[in-house]
Amino acid sequence: MNRDALLDDLRGAVGAAQVLVDGDLSAYELDWRRRWHGKALAVVRPGSTAEVARVVQRCAAHGTSVVPQGGNTGLVGGGVPDASGRQVLLSLARMNRVRAIDAANATLTVEAGCVLKALQEAAAQAGFLFPLSLAAEGSCTIGGNLATNAGGTQVLRFGNAREQCLGLEVVTAHGDVWDGLSGLRKDNTGYDLRDLMIGSEGTLGIITAATLKLQPLPAAQATAFVACGTLADCVALLQLARQRLDAALTGFEVMGRVALDLVAQQFPQLPRPLPGAAWTVLLEAADAESEAAVRGRFERLLQAALERGVAADAVLAESVAQARALWHVRESIPLAQAQAQEGPNIKHDISLPVSAIADFVAHTDAALQAAYPGSRLVNFGHLGDGNLHYNLQPAPGRDAQRFLEQEEDAVNRIVYDAVLARGGSISAEHGIGVLKLHELQQRKSPVALAMMRAIKQALDPHGTLNPNRVLPG
Ligand code: FAD
Ligand code: ZN
Repeated sequence: MNRDALLDDLRGAVGAAQVLVDGDLSAYELDWRRRWHGKALAVVRPGSTAEVARVVQRCAAHGTSVVPQGGNTGLVGGGVPDASGRQVLLSLARMNRVRAIDAANATLTVEAGCVLKALQEAAAQAGFLFPLSLAAEGSCTIGGNLATNAGGTQVLRFGNAREQCLGLEVVTAHGDVWDGLSGLRKDNTGYDLRDLMIGSEGTLGIITAATLKLQPLPAAQATAFVACGTLADCVALLQLARQRLDAALTGFEVMGRVALDLVAQQFPQLPRPLPGAAWTVLLEAADAESEAAVRGRFERLLQAALERGVAADAVLAESVAQARALWHVRESIPLAQAQAQEGPNIKHDISLPVSAIADFVAHTDAALQAAYPGSRLVNFGHLGDGNLHYNLQPAPGRDAQRFLEQEEDAVNRIVYDAVLARGGSISAEHGIGVLKLHELQQRKSPVALAMMRAIKQALDPHGTLNPNRVLPG
């Protein structure tokens, strides 16, 4: 590869002002968790699909790999370049236009760099709900959400990013443009290329635009914090909530006491309802009915949960502002962890059948306590989807950075053995990236891995797109 010739070509493709090589590029080169600090050959910021295609063509011709990036909020190191200084970082951030809204078809077409919150707002302005929602929504992009098949807090009702998407526009590893921007809900014309791209973490194609499903705006919502004595009680509450609320159940998040203690420590200005609870559930219902109807059903559910001893206490939000405040507490957990003076945690984003969760946590907590006395589990997540963020913080006084370096593999073995023994997954919603590259090789079935390699080889034979993410090489 001739670096200067490539840079000239890239400047020709997108204009010199959008090819960054000097200055502080850490916004692109350092990930959100500050765990992976790469060095890009250049940061390239195309403004159109045609420019993305040109960049990929130039890079492929020079034998240079391309790392696509949206909002750089990914948690597995997949969206930052490696340390070689030989990868081109392709930022989609400038491609953030809403291209079209089709109200009769209940769809919206946006460019990949559109920030999730801006997309939600565009949908709301048109009188619709775009239900994908996660704590990073102020900076993550729809392209990144689709590339990681992001989950978030409304999966239980509306599904993950994949289920919001009807069509894609993608630049292939050869620099061709695939226009798959269909708004069809039915289209069985061969292999599903859209679903192949979704969740591929930038390794099979670069998403440049998407056509997304919109939902009706709910007429009313009800939100509560509910205290539970055990995780098994939280699961019983979930069952009851499903029976009583059915499709109106839109949120069921669980938070362990240690996670909420961390939020209180980092953000003392936030409310702390139900301070003594071992487990707190954030429960939400939404409906097209009236405020009175949804609240009535919600209150009857809480009453039944208290009477059966499934819940110990509950605090119901009395206003939209109070409901937002409760969500804010839940969404502050990742940031509280990132800021904690104690240093980094060993993180796990796991999923299990809901019926196996309480047993998994009891077993794994005990195994980790035996191996690492005094360590604490910052445990929270989307219980309604069987998804926990099960993170280990070392005992007070231990150097967390050194603990991470020395013990991460051993901790992962304990956690992932227990997850797989119960039919779970080592990545529920964050993806594989570089963090779980080797773990996946060891733990996914050889038949599945062989099919994945064959797909990668067919679509990206020269390894131009995000090499060494998801699959080695
Ligand atoms: P990036 O971080 O830029 O990239 C992520 C991956 O996608 C990389 O592999 C990158 O190469 C690839 N990529 C990005 N854009 C494209 C594109 N246009 N085409 C092809 N590949 C692309 N995730 C959840 O699922 N649920 C949560 O609840 C959740 N909460 C979070 C809370 C916080 C505070 C943070 C920081 C992250 C959270 N995440 C969560 C992680 C989640 O993966 C990201 O927030 C989001 O989906 C990534 O979007 P992004 O635009 O930032 O992508
Ligand atoms: Zn999550």
